[in-house]
Amino acid sequence: MTNWRVAVETRGPDPAGRAVPQTVIGHAYDVDAGEAAHPITQGTYLVRADHEWTTGFLGWERCEECTKKIGRRPTN
Ligand SMILES: [Zn+2]
Repeated sequence: MTNWRVAVETRGPDPAGRAVPQTVIGHAYDVDAGEAAHPITQGTYLVRADHEWTTGFLGWERCEECTKKIGRRPTN
């Protein structure tokens, strides 16, 4: 049983320095394996192991790719 938690990705200002709206996205993160459900390459992310993927969302935008892979319901 995979222990999916949340990794919060912050997409900061783009490299050109333009002011872009900051988006905060919650990805699924497997804390036991120490890896995200898919590579997160567009920004930096912070693992929030205290927040469960299925229930622990606090207003972050839920990653579509993770949702497709894992779903949103508890798996156990
Ligand atoms: Zn994701």
